[in-house]
Amino acid sequence: MNIVLFGAPGCGKGSQAKLITAKYGIPQISTGDILRSEISKNTELGIIAGKYINNGLLLPDDLVIELVKKTLQQPNCQNGFILDGFPRTLNQAQRLLEFINIDVAILIDVNINEVERRALYRRICPVCGKIYNISNKYIEICECGNKLIQREDDKLEVVRHRIEKYLANSEDIIEFFKERKILATVLSGETPEETFVSVDKILSEL
Ligand code: AMP
Repeated sequence: MNIVLFGAPGCGKGSQAKLITAKYGIPQISTGDILRSEISKNTELGIIAGKYINNGLLLPDDLVIELVKKTLQQPNCQNGFILDGFPRTLNQAQRLLEFINIDVAILIDVNINEVERRALYRRICPVCGKIYNISNKYIEICECGNKLIQREDDKLEVVRHRIEKYLANSEDIIEFFKERKILATVLSGETPEETFVSVDKILSEL
């Protein structure tokens, strides 16, 4: 099953990807996670990526497309994968479908006013990657015992840039997926588990 998860920053793509991986055993390919790992290792790609990510800007298409192409050729992606955070431009979407088949692109539809709030309250574990929303319950420590952090690009100014970028590109991408007859839309629920009921229904019908 080759899946694209698509939606505004903070719509819950990462949480859905983890639930899909847990049930179907296919890997989550998050371009954001790969780039953040390159930044923490201070690689050549990481140094370039940091300049874009920390300002809420998208990396150049060619760079990200090459990264995804290389990642999808790895043995662990041969029985399927979940793309999370890619494509983010129409060009990326078009080029993706030139080199690989996508069974479904799931749009997680969330009220855009909700998005800013969700991103601001998001905390992640830098060790195990678990994502928390601290709006109702303030948590500092992950269940694995490590201290949660706020992503640099979840801070207000950067979040606003990321939302603007999403709004500028999303219509064209959604239209493209629709034309290629691979678009499925789910409404984002109150909890990841609630949203997953709809996501899972789509996947079980494939
Ligand atoms: P994410 O974790 O998916 O929110 O991605 C974090 C940041 O990584 C984005 O705000 C971009 O700066 C960069 N990034 C991730 N995926 C892409 C992509 N497909 N194209 C360009 N930049 C990306």
